[in-house]
Amino acid sequence: LPKALRNQNKSWAFYQLEQFLTYKAHLNNSEVVEVSAKYTSQRCTKCGVIKKDNRNHEKHEYHCDNCGYRSNDDRIGAMNIQLLGTQYISGQEQPKFELATNA
Ligand SMILES: [Zn+2]
Repeated sequence: LPKALRNQNKSWAFYQLEQFLTYKAHLNNSEVVEVSAKYTSQRCTKCGVIKKDNRNHEKHEYHCDNCGYRSNDDRIGAMNIQLLGTQYISGQEQPKFELATNA
């Protein structure tokens, strides 16, 4: 088993996907950045609120009860992941979303 798989909860399929992405990225002079997926489908991309109930799995919709923003839940996830990648490129070593402590 590759070293990257031994200590993590990564499936073989995910590992293969990562290898493939890295290969394709390098062909295009790009890098693959790994970020935490935590809250990426629960965070409103407009106001930043993190709330699990804002996501409706069955309708594949995210509807923010704080600011009213609506979008496809996978799109919300992709936008949040992109934001974490941007933070990584800006110098944050382990960018991630966290719940506000006073929420
Ligand atoms: Zn919002």
